[in-house]
Amino acid sequence: MALHQTVEAHDEAIEDVYSAGSSQRRLPKFRLPEHSTAPSAAYNLVRDELLLDGNSRQNLATFCTTWVEPEVQKLMADAVDKNMIDKDEYPQTAEIENRCVHMIADLWHAPKSWDTIGCSTTGSSEASMLGGLALKWRWKKKREAAGLSTDKPNFVCGPVQICWKKFARYFDVEIREVPLRDGALGLQPHDLREFCDENTIGVVATLGVTFTGIYEPVAALARELDAMQRDIGLDIPIHVDAASGGFVAPFIQRELDWDFTIDRVKSINASGHKYGLAPLGVGWVVWRSKADLPEDLIFYVDYLGGNMATFALNFSRPGGEIIAQYYNFLRLGREGYTRIQQACSDTAQWLAAEIAKIGPLELVYDGKDGLPAVCYKLKDGEAHGFTLYDLSERVRMRGWQIASYPLPADRQQVVVQRVLIRHGVSRDLIGLLLDDLRRGIDYLRQNPVPNSDAGPTFSHGAHVVPLKDARGRV
Ligand SMILES: *Cc1c(COP(=O)(O)O)cnc(C)c1O
Repeated sequence: MALHQTVEAHDEAIEDVYSAGSSQRRLPKFRLPEHSTAPSAAYNLVRDELLLDGNSRQNLATFCTTWVEPEVQKLMADAVDKNMIDKDEYPQTAEIENRCVHMIADLWHAPKSWDTIGCSTTGSSEASMLGGLALKWRWKKKREAAGLSTDKPNFVCGPVQICWKKFARYFDVEIREVPLRDGALGLQPHDLREFCDENTIGVVATLGVTFTGIYEPVAALARELDAMQRDIGLDIPIHVDAASGGFVAPFIQRELDWDFTIDRVKSINASGHKYGLAPLGVGWVVWRSKADLPEDLIFYVDYLGGNMATFALNFSRPGGEIIAQYYNFLRLGREGYTRIQQACSDTAQWLAAEIAKIGPLELVYDGKDGLPAVCYKLKDGEAHGFTLYDLSERVRMRGWQIASYPLPADRQQVVVQRVLIRHGVSRDLIGLLLDDLRRGIDYLRQNPVPNSDAGPTFSHGAHVVPLKDARGRV
């Protein structure tokens, strides 16, 4: 048996990959195979399966990094063995993470950026949960100290990414998602008095709303909360979910007040793997000061014979993405980030201007004061004979992946299409996309789809199954 196995493996190693035994069978789906496969054959077979994935560079529905420099690929390979939680074993990876935290805190104008606290995470989802947990703990401690009940915490937000719905459910906090009223695309200051109360642990403002790319007005929200504190005595902190905007606004919207320059902003998260330009798997959360992260939530791990404070949901995690983030900071500097984000923003605004010229389309977001993105809908009051879902399917035939979906409540009747421009999406590529969009629309006008069953194409957090359905109850 053992001999037979060795012989087969040996044969596969010298044989052509596509005539070797393993390529004559379908690959296993349910059981671990009994025998081994030569590495080159296994590699080719697995890689071939991945041909069926979409081409990530043409995926204009994702905010995430799909192009990196060869040096980043090298650093990722160099770090494949680094567990970032082993701070004592890999102290320089820990040091690099710390440098990133302080650089980001400085980028976001933390009052004492060298002394603040923050950490890397797997992405903005984990980072948001940590931010939310800190809000919940601070609120709970304050309530307990005053002898008040702590059983009904809530947070107030606009149209949030799915991670906040998870936070609400996993950590038992009521989510008060303010509906989009009077044509709004995000949370408005005048919503706050209606939705906040003594049990509000915080307001979550989004810098780069997933659905459209707009920024919620953090400074105006903070001013309204200041006024509420004066009028009704509620002191409600803000967490900014800057998953995308956190690495855009500091470079190309420098006049915008949204970060720790506003006293009420106590914590901010961002995805390193979105406009932070790092490869997938890294997010960041930073607190305004050490005092804003409750001590109860901190655990200590060994570090150079001492202790290092950590706060995370994960334990073991790859170190490569963090190292690649630091590489980007070093490689690009403020100058490089500014150039890249400005180029993306310019391309988005150019795309918006072109979209506006396409008959049946109407802009919802023109790429100007928020993320480098464009969002549009079909013009109201006309029979188009097709939906944006049909158009998404049509351009998918050319490899483009473009998200189409309804806006959240109360604007569910508005279906939008959103194109994200990120590093590596050039003006020429967007020109080619425009040609395909125009061709797609012409085709659909000539070949209407009266009974279309095309549906939303969006996986970034529009819809969560209500709790009762998830449990199987009707
Ligand atoms: C992408 C996104 C998230 C989730 O971030 P991940 O890094 O994918 O976990 C959270 N909030 C907003 C606003 C986002 O755009």
